[in-house]
Amino acid sequence: MRTLNIDSKWTGTVHYACDGCRRKRDFPVSGEIIDWMGQRKRLQNLGWVQTTVNGTTYDFCSEACMNRYLKRSSDKLKEVK
Ligand SMILES: [Zn+2]
Repeated sequence: MRTLNIDSKWTGTVHYACDGCRRKRDFPVSGEIIDWMGQRKRLQNLGWVQTTVNGTTYDFCSEACMNRYLKRSSDKLKEVK
């Protein structure tokens, strides 16, 4: 899950939280250019994964965390299909 916390001067943080275990990772923002791709790359280097299920994008701190989460919510996801 990604949250953008910035003030009117575009200063603040981009906040990522693992949808599985709520582990957090913040990136500072200053100025009007946010390096989304660079952040995504850095998260990937840290082992984070992103996946989209039924149109909703999820962030996980690891593949194991993603698998655990998807397994846990697979009944719920089946209903949506
Ligand atoms: Zn996690």
